[in-house]
Amino acid sequence: MIRQYLKFRKTITIVCVLSLLFLIFLILTKNQNSNSSELIRHHKRLDDDFQDIGYRELDDIPKKEIYVLGEKELKMELSNTIEDSTKRELREVKAKVEQLEKKIAFLEGRIPQKYPEVQYLGYKERKRILVTGGAGFVGSHLVDVLMIQGHEVIVVDNFFTGRKRNIEHWFGHRNFELIHHDIVNPLFVEADEIYHLASPASPPHYMQNPVKTIKTNTLGTINMLGLARRVGAKILIASTSEVYGDPMVHPQPESYWGHVNPIGPRACYDEGKRVSETLAYSYAKQEKVSVRVARIFNTYGPRMHVSDGRVVSNFIMQALQNLTITVYGNGKQTRSFCYVSDLVDGLLALMASSYSLPVNIGNPVEHTIEEFAVIIKNLVPGCRSTVATGAAVEDDPQRRRPDITLAKNQLHWSPKVSLQDGLQRTIDYFKEELSRTTFYNNQTYIDFKVKTSH
Ligand code: NAD
Ligand code: UDP
Repeated sequence: MIRQYLKFRKTITIVCVLSLLFLIFLILTKNQNSNSSELIRHHKRLDDDFQDIGYRELDDIPKKEIYVLGEKELKMELSNTIEDSTKRELREVKAKVEQLEKKIAFLEGRIPQKYPEVQYLGYKERKRILVTGGAGFVGSHLVDVLMIQGHEVIVVDNFFTGRKRNIEHWFGHRNFELIHHDIVNPLFVEADEIYHLASPASPPHYMQNPVKTIKTNTLGTINMLGLARRVGAKILIASTSEVYGDPMVHPQPESYWGHVNPIGPRACYDEGKRVSETLAYSYAKQEKVSVRVARIFNTYGPRMHVSDGRVVSNFIMQALQNLTITVYGNGKQTRSFCYVSDLVDGLLALMASSYSLPVNIGNPVEHTIEEFAVIIKNLVPGCRSTVATGAAVEDDPQRRRPDITLAKNQLHWSPKVSLQDGLQRTIDYFKEELSRTTFYNNQTYIDFKVKTSH
């Protein structure tokens, strides 16, 4: 009986111990489970936090929020911050690139993608031609024709009244060369022909520095004639109808000696050109230089300087802007206007001819300045300008019209472009110049704004 009792007690003890062990196991397992779900909950909260932070700038995050983040979170936060500032910098750079692209597009519009087509001339036909004043109004048109004919052209200019823009379409062409040089100083180049055009031509320009105007037309011409002598080149001198002064003979033939005031405001130009002619024939006689002298009458056309003060540019600019058209004096004085392409044809014909005495190149259709103002006003659509007379200009020649019989006979040349057509082309050019000026002003304004906003 006692034995059976002891066996039962042992069994009970084993059962109790096993139950206890099971109980401990259960408790441990439960703890572990609650720890892991707590861990999962914590991670989920952090994930939510990060998603929130991802959309905010670093400056927006309160400092304490950063402190509660763990190491992993701080790393992500840092990379987000770097990403944000990089994005900001990229946006700024993109804006600057866009601005530069606009500027480049504008500048590219000014540089032709390809050169005007030029003829190919063989070694024997191709000449090396020097054009002094080639960046000016007449010179640049002459350069265009010579280049297109296939010659090698050297432009010499000091840019007093000329502009690089007039010849920039030739920059880089293998037949073209530009020398920035003042012809008052000697020049040593090789040339077969010289067109000597360097000299201001508009009265306000040549009166601005009369001594320089005389130097250009005397010393400058001596330098060019000396060069022609040294290299054996034929030289054409651009003279002017101003050698006739305020003429007493009308229309003016080449045989007329002129009526010039030697000490008046125009004398620096008029007498400068007269000396220029004298020099040409002295070099011809003494040094056997082959010379041509063109007496050029009032010429107009595209590339005249918008503010050179000559009547054509003044009247057109005034008409285009509905400003008063300013006639100097009573407007009864006359002029005869030649379109620039006609003048260039005349210069080429003279250079090619064997005639070596002075030749008038101009258009004999004569108008009073008063009439001329009305012609221009009527050619500008919607023009509301009024024509007003004002003070007369000192020594203003009262009548001017070329007798072109000699040019017709010797050069078989006469002008072809009517005043109406020529003025229309010139008005179109000045219109474009005006819009360019507006565009430039806008550009300056934009740049200014960008600078001041910084
Ligand atoms: P422009 O002022 O447009 O051109 C003259 C050119 O000569 C300019 O490019 C200028 O920078 C350059 N120049 C001036 N002085 C110089 C110097 N010392 N060294 C180097 N370059 C210099 O004038 P334009 O209307 O083309 O006239 C060209 C020529 O034709 C001038 O000799 C002028 O006297 C003559 N001309 C013109 C007209 C006319 O109605 N356009 C009439 C009569 C004569
Ligand atoms: N002229 C004018 N108004 C102007 C500019 C010129 O009446 O705004 C006159 C000038 O007095 C002259 C003529 O127009 O009688 C031609 O002048 P320009 O200066 O063109 O050349 P010029 O033939 O006198 O050398």
